[in-house]
Amino acid sequence: MDCIFCKIVTREIPADIIYEDDNTLAFLDIKPVNRGHALVIPKKHSADMLSASDADLIETTKITKKIAKAIVLATSAAGVNVSTNNGAAAGQVIFHWHYHVIPRFTADGLIPWPHHDSETKTRQELAEEIKKNL
Ligand code: 5GP
Ligand code: ZN
Repeated sequence: MDCIFCKIVTREIPADIIYEDDNTLAFLDIKPVNRGHALVIPKKHSADMLSASDADLIETTKITKKIAKAIVLATSAAGVNVSTNNGAAAGQVIFHWHYHVIPRFTADGLIPWPHHDSETKTRQELAEEIKKNL
């Protein structure tokens, strides 16, 4: 499969690997948002979080917590964002599911997502629509 992250798993492409076990790999992002920005992936390919197996989800999330703690300590970060992009519209570029672990520093200049006001009725209708789809 022509997937960059699968090739990092098989060592066809080099990476700064910080953690590896049977199911999970973590390595530094090649274009970090902040110093210490890392990616955590299941070794088994799935395009995004929504199509990953529950087993991979649990394992990858457990390891991501461990990695996030280590990165906070190593970089003396004041906080950490753990996030995942699903789909091109959500900013996903590499279609092998991964968590971003991004250490945060006070006033580090990263722009927060803009928030918008919303109407109570609209929120209630939307909540119902989502619940129908669970
Ligand atoms: P996405 O936008 O898909 O959520 O994030 C993909 C991330 O992978 C980006 O932050 C990008 O910098 C990183 N990335 C892309 N190609 C490579 C690569 O070859 N090696 C490493 N270490 N990171 C990569
Ligand atoms: Zn892959």
